[in-house]
Amino acid sequence: SSGQNTITATLFPGDGIGPEIANSVKEVFRQAQVPIQWEEHYIGNTVDPRTGSFVTYESMESVRRNGIGLKGPMTTPIGKGHKSLNLALRKELGLYANVRPCLSIPGHKTRYDNVDLVTIRENTEGEYSGLEHQVVRGVVESLKIITRQASSRVAEYAFHYAEVHGRKRVSAIHKANIMKKTDGLFLQCCREVAENYPNIVYEEVIIDNCCMMLVKNPALFDVLVMPNLYGDIISDLCAGLIGGLGLTPSGNIGDNGLALMEAVHGTAPDIAGKNMANPTALLLSSVMMLKHLGLNDQAESIHKAILKTIEEGKYLTGDIGGSAGTSVLGQHFLDYLGIPR
Ligand code: NAD
Repeated sequence: SSGQNTITATLFPGDGIGPEIANSVKEVFRQAQVPIQWEEHYIGNTVDPRTGSFVTYESMESVRRNGIGLKGPMTTPIGKGHKSLNLALRKELGLYANVRPCLSIPGHKTRYDNVDLVTIRENTEGEYSGLEHQVVRGVVESLKIITRQASSRVAEYAFHYAEVHGRKRVSAIHKANIMKKTDGLFLQCCREVAENYPNIVYEEVIIDNCCMMLVKNPALFDVLVMPNLYGDIISDLCAGLIGGLGLTPSGNIGDNGLALMEAVHGTAPDIAGKNMANPTALLLSSVMMLKHLGLNDQAESIHKAILKTIEEGKYLTGDIGGSAGTSVLGQHFLDYLGIPR
């Protein structure tokens, strides 16, 4: 990596198991000589009035300035008068798309061996607009907002992602046969964007049929793009296809190419501080981060080291059937990076 400029990235180790798995990532990056310098931020223990949440203004500024970040899991503080952490991050950083690559990991046996798909979820509107009210007693109404601007933006990201990652097909998931106007507009936007990507096959799949196809044969899909609610559900379904929480990375894409990657799982309070957590999901999230930055060689070698370590199966954490500690699994990723220890 000599001669490469160092890139500064924001790191939120988070809490619970967060700091332990973030240590694994830092160690792998250090040993692999990845040209990333971390700017570490922790969540405050009071509400910052400038963000309306426990995320400080300085942390937000750090991500905005660097345009790239990695986030460990964070405990959701309970109580009134503040925004949830995820909502605050999403609003402040304009995180409009959530991306989850779901790839079968050889050696980790699940019902399917051949999953290799990516879900891309619109993350700002749709059924999550928060516009609900009572019309008259016994009748409530919830407004699903679909805009051309947000739909085109997420569709553009999906096709861009497919192109950059050498993917062949984008499927728009919808229920436009029933929701003719809202999902209809979403599809219309996807079609328009698809015209600019003649090398990528575009198809439209109704959500119920999509679910059936996914559980029968996930290999039928490549990149899936969808409105908020469908994305929420389908992305969890897909994480389940590859074996669950400890192995699933994700990314949040925001304005001006900003990206904040994070593991899908939470703070795992039951095993926190016990050196039992699986660092794989956060490490795979950091691989997504490297790919986003165009550091493809480093991304590939770390990704391969993860896959080989898990396939070998000698040093696995409890959640994937082994008895090794976080630090031992983290150390063994280094074996396959070809770095003497
Ligand atoms: P969780 O994901 O923390 O834990 C669910 C189960 O999965 C637990 O048994 C846990 O031990 C296990 N698990 C999760 N990640 C693991 C890993 N890397 N290695 C091994 N085992 C792992 O979900 P939860 O218990 O519902 O939530 C706990 C806390 O995390 C809550 O405060 C919640 O709000 C927060 N949370 C945060 C995020 C985030 O920051 N993105 C996401 C989900 C939950």
